[in-house]
Amino acid sequence: MKTIEQIYINGAFQKPHGQEHFDLINPSTGQSRGYVVLGDEVDARNAIAAAKAAFLSFSQTTREERAQYLTRMSEALAARKNDLIAAMLEEYGASRPFVEMAVQMAITNPLEIRKTLQSYEFIRNAGNSRVAMESIGVVGLITPWNSNAGFITGKFSTALAAGCTAVIKPSEMSATQTQIVIEAIHTIGLPPGVFNLVNGRGDVVGAEITRNRDISKISFTGSTAVGKTIARGAAETLKRVTLELGGKSPNILLDDTDFAKAIPQALGAAFMNNGQACIAGTRLLVPEARLEEVKELLRKAVAQVKVGNPQDPAVTLGPLVNEKQFERVQSYIRKGMEEGAELLTGGVGRPEGLEGGYYVKPTVFVNVKNNMAIAREEIFGPVLSVLTYKNLDEAIEIANDTDYGLQSYITTTNPEKAQTLARRLQTGRVLINSPAHDPQAPFGGFKQSGLGREFGVLGLESFLEPKSIIGK
Ligand code: NAD
Repeated sequence: MKTIEQIYINGAFQKPHGQEHFDLINPSTGQSRGYVVLGDEVDARNAIAAAKAAFLSFSQTTREERAQYLTRMSEALAARKNDLIAAMLEEYGASRPFVEMAVQMAITNPLEIRKTLQSYEFIRNAGNSRVAMESIGVVGLITPWNSNAGFITGKFSTALAAGCTAVIKPSEMSATQTQIVIEAIHTIGLPPGVFNLVNGRGDVVGAEITRNRDISKISFTGSTAVGKTIARGAAETLKRVTLELGGKSPNILLDDTDFAKAIPQALGAAFMNNGQACIAGTRLLVPEARLEEVKELLRKAVAQVKVGNPQDPAVTLGPLVNEKQFERVQSYIRKGMEEGAELLTGGVGRPEGLEGGYYVKPTVFVNVKNNMAIAREEIFGPVLSVLTYKNLDEAIEIANDTDYGLQSYITTTNPEKAQTLARRLQTGRVLINSPAHDPQAPFGGFKQSGLGREFGVLGLESFLEPKSIIGK
């Protein structure tokens, strides 16, 4: 059994003041695998005080010093790669290929922002003035469970590159991988107080970070509902906020596409991380005249999905993260059927022989209308909704008819058409014929998928405040 009884404040592991225990569950079995002791408001305030004390000198460090810390951070994380993979497999139940990719991103995040830092102009001229881009202050970084190690290293690396000090509140469900990340960062020799991390509940530690006047900015990744709560709370002290929230990404297949190749890829985009991804392509838009062919190909593609415990390397779809998530997905599958969508594969209940963990049947609905809940709401499970369009104008209208705007996908053999279409889609990122992530390009959402951008120059600048210095 795993017990995690330490948080990290002012350069040292500490027992939290908080006493609450949170059960750590293995989603592949549904069994408890230990517990984490959660910090409370006192712990959050101690961490914020340590970060505040460290800020004055850390914000004055040079570009070179920060670049060195980033290099060391990446090396320290790389040294724990296998531990991180093992922890994520056990903690999330994501498939091994996904976990390996997520861990690699966690390791390279510091190196990507180091590239941006190396050429960034902190001092420029505007009119007759000098404009200095200054570190924004103490920042609160709040992360979700669905790829926690990567979110911590991405946000913290960017804050560090900007000369900020940080208090991190990771998802309480991710305590094992969080512990490995802390142990790695502990070895890189940062001055005490630059990096602080408090495990705890969102409505306790997260709420303290949101209300505390010594926090200048919050970078949050999580659900749209919690993002709104944070934005409302942050308004009281006019904290800057970056919000990376939910999505309901459209995936448009153009008529010219090779469907035999595109359909398995589309299923992969919908079911990534067991369907628990903000960027999952969960609304598949296909030409109306090709629906029968699409149905046949989807049946075949789903038959190739291997559901099970991700400790088995052949498994491509693991369990959902917890019972609540399992029940939520079941209720959406029921809702889809009640609303009159046609169930092509899957449905309610667990797949045969997988009664223990939080396994869901890979589910595809066709003849979905864009006003149905399964087309509008983020389900966060392996449930794909297929919609049809008559022409490209209608495809764009359907794609944009959503409260979300995080990502969209286009598959076509016509590059000019793809570029024109991409410009008409209201999402922060458009992926053309590719599932690739670009760590130098800004990432974030239109509409209720968020506020602000992460990565690259825009990501770095979200941790900086411009200061105009006029006169000599
Ligand atoms: P969540 O919103 O429930 O929790 C996210 C974090 O917020 C957790 O650390 C939680 O403890 C904390 N929190 C909860 N209540 C809080 C409060 N009142 N004040 C401050 N913090 C609080 O999300 P989750 O279930 O952990 O993650 C899944 C969600 O995250 C999905 O909606 C998904 O789309 C979204 N997500 C978005 C992105 C993106 O980059 N846009 C990436 C990954 C996940």
